[in-house]
Amino acid sequence: MTSKDDTARVQPCSLDQLRSALGDLRGKRVTLMGLGVFGGGEGAARFLLSRGAELIITDLRPAGKLARSLRRLAGAPVTLHLGEHLPEDFVEAELVVANPAVRRTSPFLRMAQRAGVPITSPMNMFLASCSTCTCAVTGSNGKSTTASLLAAMLQSAGRTVWLGGNIGISLLPSLSRIGPEDLVVLELSSFQLEDARALRWSPHVTVVTNVTPNHLDRHGGFDDYAMAKRAIVDFQVPGDFAVLCARDPILEGWARDGVRSNVVFFDAEPEPGRIRHGVSLMGGRLVWHNSQRSDVICLRDDVPLLGLHNTMNAMAAAAAARCLGVGSHHVRRALSGFVGLEHRLELVGQFRGVRVYNDSYSTTPESSVAALKSFRGAIALIAGGYDKGLNLGPLARAAAQLAEVLITVGQAGPLLAQKAREESAYLGRSIVIQEVGDLQGAVRAAARLSMPGSVVVFSPGCASYDMFDNYEQRGRVFKNLVRSDFRR
Ligand code: ADP
Repeated sequence: MTSKDDTARVQPCSLDQLRSALGDLRGKRVTLMGLGVFGGGEGAARFLLSRGAELIITDLRPAGKLARSLRRLAGAPVTLHLGEHLPEDFVEAELVVANPAVRRTSPFLRMAQRAGVPITSPMNMFLASCSTCTCAVTGSNGKSTTASLLAAMLQSAGRTVWLGGNIGISLLPSLSRIGPEDLVVLELSSFQLEDARALRWSPHVTVVTNVTPNHLDRHGGFDDYAMAKRAIVDFQVPGDFAVLCARDPILEGWARDGVRSNVVFFDAEPEPGRIRHGVSLMGGRLVWHNSQRSDVICLRDDVPLLGLHNTMNAMAAAAAARCLGVGSHHVRRALSGFVGLEHRLELVGQFRGVRVYNDSYSTTPESSVAALKSFRGAIALIAGGYDKGLNLGPLARAAAQLAEVLITVGQAGPLLAQKAREESAYLGRSIVIQEVGDLQGAVRAAARLSMPGSVVVFSPGCASYDMFDNYEQRGRVFKNLVRSDFRR
């Protein structure tokens, strides 16, 4: 039986407590919990060391799994406790910094809390230390693309921009180089925002691309997940901007309930007059509206990324850029030079007349639905992976409607295949559905089943942890398999 105490989240310390803890770290014992391999732990370690902390890094994973981060920290004066956590590292520390991936119900964090040790996160340390005007992007899908687009638009207007956060770049080691006139663009996850709430602070310009179910295993439910995201606007002040997707019911609800900042909407083909302040897609044009005027930012065809979802990301970024005074010509220039991000609808190549795309970053059913809607003609979809308990129904339906071939892999594969069979029977549209054991089997099946002129998309719609360390490894393996197996 679990008691209430077992499931209670520990609370990160407040802004004042954190600033006072960070004020003088010389010789202070600090425990960094969770080094990880995405750079966030490493950035936090470098920051803490530069401030003179006596650093302990502890991670449940053994050294072999952390090799990439450990190599980069080689020679740094840190104590490593890997493969386990030791109670003394938590109760005897003067500050505990927990990686966002660590569950806030961890018994070790609770030990620290009971001992009165302040607990924080790498992002909270950054937010408490950086006074530069900040933009932040969150959402269930499209965060990295939108944050990268926004950074490119601001750069195109001649600003010095620091892009970081959940996108895999820690800005903590760069803090001393961020100038007062520079701009910081952060991608923030729901985990980072849940911690940030303790600081009672929201960024000057925020963008929320959409809010659909994700990470419910960790947040406990959709309401809690949406509430975690809301921290991005909850502490804004008049004069700040909240750029929200007008067609998203959760975000519409936020605007209706009232946020203190200026709400700026974006939407494709909205009802006439719906968007008074923001960006809309009208007749193939992206148009900026405010109380004084409307002006065309660019043509939809100027957005060099596939799919309506990416046009929406471009609209969100353009709206944020306009709020910061960036002219449409700078927005246009940034879009024209933008090359998409790796593992997001990335063209691997054309093989025997078949175009193959790697969308390994798709870890939610919604993003795979968006991927399917990005193509015309015959599509072979490879999907499946670690089952996070998300509803696979919409993906099964979209596959049954839009794909000719569905190849399922991983833990969620059988369930997805079964749901797609049901949907295809319901719709009376027959598609080829194959369940395969691994990615190599999937690539071989796709090569066998796809015709010249068609498209193969690997858009898993699920997390990677059943077969891979992360989405990057999964995407690299996919690309290598395609290069070897499609050429045959
Ligand atoms: P995030 O950082 O939120 O995970 P990315 O920009 O990295 O988002 O895109 C991740 C995946 O989500 C890609 O597979 C992409 O096809 C899909 N995607 C991107 N933007 C959207 C959107 N606005 N709505 C739905 N899916 C999207």
